[in-house]
Amino acid sequence: MTLARFQMCIGGEWVDALSGKTFESLNPALAEPWAQLPDAGEADVERAVQAAQTAFDSPAWRGLTATARGKLLRRLGDLIAENKEQLAQLESRDNGKLIRETRGQVGYLPEFFHYTAGLADKLEGGTLPLDKPDLFAYTVHEAMGVVAAIIPWNSPLYLTAIKLAPALAAGNTIVIKPSEHASATILELARLALEAGIPPGVVNVVTGYGPSTGAALTRHPLVRKIAFTGGAATARHVVRSSAENFAKLSLELGGKSPNIIFADADLDSAINGAIAGIYAASGQSCVSGSRLLVQDEIYDEFVGRLVERAQRIRIGNPQDDSSEMGPMATAQQLAVVEGLVADAIAEGARLRLGGKRPANLGDGWFYEPTLFECDRNSMKIMQEEVFGPVASVIRFKDEAEALAIANDSQFGLAAGIWTRDLGRAHRLARDVRSGIIWVNTYRAVSAMAPIGGFKNSGYGRESGIDSVLAYTELKTVWINLSQAPMPDPFVMR
Ligand code: NAD
Repeated sequence: MTLARFQMCIGGEWVDALSGKTFESLNPALAEPWAQLPDAGEADVERAVQAAQTAFDSPAWRGLTATARGKLLRRLGDLIAENKEQLAQLESRDNGKLIRETRGQVGYLPEFFHYTAGLADKLEGGTLPLDKPDLFAYTVHEAMGVVAAIIPWNSPLYLTAIKLAPALAAGNTIVIKPSEHASATILELARLALEAGIPPGVVNVVTGYGPSTGAALTRHPLVRKIAFTGGAATARHVVRSSAENFAKLSLELGGKSPNIIFADADLDSAINGAIAGIYAASGQSCVSGSRLLVQDEIYDEFVGRLVERAQRIRIGNPQDDSSEMGPMATAQQLAVVEGLVADAIAEGARLRLGGKRPANLGDGWFYEPTLFECDRNSMKIMQEEVFGPVASVIRFKDEAEALAIANDSQFGLAAGIWTRDLGRAHRLARDVRSGIIWVNTYRAVSAMAPIGGFKNSGYGRESGIDSVLAYTELKTVWINLSQAPMPDPFVMR
């Protein structure tokens, strides 16, 4: 099969790696290569960061008003809308995500750009009501400089959009390092950014591996902010890299989110919510509701009905409209899932469903919807992120026990609460330690809603009205109003 060939976007030019090295991207549904991409080395990263710095300093970008930047972002949103089917197809082929899901995500992306475009010229500083009558001071939110965006493979376009749009709205320039497993749509996004009229060098993409390309980018001295989404182990490398020049950081990491189902819940809805939480996207979602906490009274009925529904999930080619679950995005991720399932069985978790690869789906990295029943929240399968279609279910007696189990986790990204009791919903929304709480729904996103985690799920928030502020430095400007000579220079004013 002939491989599709991609080049990187540096300074508005389409280039190969200076070394000429390439790597292959594999189609997860077939487990075979479909594309070839440049393997960027240190010298390529250097070029990209320099191009971004040059663009940051150039009148073509720096001279634009915030309103003009907003218009460019709006145009980019429009171009994404015009190209949405092609982008959805490309992402589905590259990372194995269901076409119905990539269509949904790409279809919503323009909203992120349009919403954030509107924030560009609303970055207002303040005048300070100083307690010093001879002085006047105001604050300004300024762009930081070059932003490095490090992206995982599970939702590349969406996770890039929520970094790119606010970074540009605030007037920064960016170098994006997509996952080595899913770079194609990010290169397309760079093409659309150029087509939208965003000046060359403002959006750069370097493709390659994490420990080489990613590490060279995150430790580059000109990088002022790193926006990272990925796993905790990688995040620790990135935090260490940022220590070199104290680049500001946002970290969106993993989770082991509790989906808590009370006996008074609408069970039909809660079962759909449980399925959405763990089997949608084959569990390859940072907000997966991978821990199901179910109240005693309905435990048997709930688990029985969940198993029955999950058994009917249609696993298959992600590009087929009727498929409900596609493959794992990478062979490594499949191995991780298989390893954690084996550990769960060895530790005594009871396998109720799945636990193996489906027959008759060829070499693709498919895995069956899997469910474990657990007696203790301390079991590894209740504590470790699987990032695959593996749920573990545990029973609880009352609200206090549900809360204790929910919070007994190193993570704090998301939580689902299923109940008709309004007071209980609000109590748990207050007391569960996580960045996102969904009540009687799951996996909802909006351009207006911040996402991000507590505890080991990271820090910083993306999306929402404050997202642009996270890409700014705050400056305080002091003006002396007095006509008198400067007072005693040896005393702080
Ligand atoms: P990963 O951490 O392996 O890789 C993420 C990115 O980091 C990739 O682009 C990779 O090339 C790069 N990278 C790897 N080593 C690096 C290094 N030393 N320096 C700089 N960059 C490096 O994550 P993944 O396997 O691609 O994605 C899965 C993880 O991402 C899961 O833990 C998941 O929970 C998390 N995730 C979180 C969110 C969120 O919003 N919280 C969303 C999606 C995924």
